[in-house]
Amino acid sequence: MECYFCQRNIRDIDFKETQALRKFISASGKIKSKKRTGICSSHQRRLARAIKRARYLALLSPIAK
Ligand SMILES: [Zn+2]
Repeated sequence: MECYFCQRNIRDIDFKETQALRKFISASGKIKSKKRTGICSSHQRRLARAIKRARYLALLSPIAK
């Protein structure tokens, strides 16, 4: 099964794509597990990195409002 990013042919997840990143963050602000999102392991790693970077740059709040 192809994941969200594989389907869209996105190799590197851009941390500026906060709209897309938010889909993968739970209500409590945590990164959803790949079981729930259906994301492949390579994209899960890239996603985690993008989310951390976005949080660091305050593009995403650490805790969802
Ligand atoms: Zn993928």
